[in-house]
Amino acid sequence: MYDKEILKREYCWNLFTWVKLSKELRKSRAHAILFPIGSVEQHGPHLPLGLDYIIADEVSSRVCRRLQANGILALKLPPLPYGMSAMWGAYPGTITLSTETLYAIVKDVMRSLWKSGVRLVVIVNGHAGNADVLKVVARDATEEFDSLTIAVITIWEVVGDVIKELFQTPFFHADEVETSVAMALDLLLDKPPEKAPQPTAFRAYSEEWHSLDLTKRPKVYVYSRESTKTVGFGAFGSPSLATKSKGLKLLEEMVSRITTFVSDLICKPGT
Ligand SMILES: [Zn+2]
Repeated sequence: MYDKEILKREYCWNLFTWVKLSKELRKSRAHAILFPIGSVEQHGPHLPLGLDYIIADEVSSRVCRRLQANGILALKLPPLPYGMSAMWGAYPGTITLSTETLYAIVKDVMRSLWKSGVRLVVIVNGHAGNADVLKVVARDATEEFDSLTIAVITIWEVVGDVIKELFQTPFFHADEVETSVAMALDLLLDKPPEKAPQPTAFRAYSEEWHSLDLTKRPKVYVYSRESTKTVGFGAFGSPSLATKSKGLKLLEEMVSRITTFVSDLICKPGT
């Protein structure tokens, strides 16, 4: 049943009338439109397929509420649930877009926002696999649509240092870190597995070349076909070390840092 409570979410673009929305955008030259993007892909035997977009959506909602509390017009678009998930394509339940499709959808959304009068878009990306395409489309769209600024944020990268400090294992997939954030949002569906393969177990090269430590930039990128392979149940590292309190701390840090970043971006002249 449709929940009328939803109308209280005054930060949701899709709950405005077109009349009110265009008035608000004209009135507030200082605005930010947040666009959450994630994935629908396997997340081990204990987490939901849609975890990445649910987290990106929730982080975006919280950031919008804080920005609005500071007098900034911040609105969240409905999330794009699908992303580039070919790497988990061998697991039933995974749904992936091709590079061309993701590029085209995001470009079309940017064009529509720009035509509506939007001048600052913040893409809040919950799935690392989307990051490369999002950066390319942001570069192309800002060249094409005059006076549009697009920020691309992959939420895990914003808190690389916190992950290093707070968790025993580095960030990968359906691991200690992601399971903790899922617990913080009450999204744990089953007991986290005790044993899972290490993310680096299948690498022929050392950590120095492409570290899982998000505070270090990779020196190389190595690709080989992943879409036909499965690695156990699809969880990695030590998901059983996850706790709700670590997830809550990480989530809070993500939200507060992104809020600060967007405020800075809006207040800086020229954007
Ligand atoms: Zn994920």
